[in-house]
Amino acid sequence: MIKLKAIEEKSVSHVGYGAGSGDIINEEYECPCGQGKVFYEKDDIPGFRSSDIWCTCKECDDKYTFRRGIAEEKSK
Ligand SMILES: [Zn+2]
Repeated sequence: MIKLKAIEEKSVSHVGYGAGSGDIINEEYECPCGQGKVFYEKDDIPGFRSSDIWCTCKECDDKYTFRRGIAEEKSK
């Protein structure tokens, strides 16, 4: 398990979709090899919660699965 290096974290408030306001959290990390980036996005809005994580580095994307702030080597 590799802890990713955070580059940027920001959260933006959102007026919401009729069930109250919330936040959209965006986090940016360096990928394990340092050649690309890992993006994490979470919508923390009542009635509309989803999160997504993706890596711009093909090599690391093939090699690891990502969770918030963490990369785990895929089992072969
Ligand atoms: Zn990489």
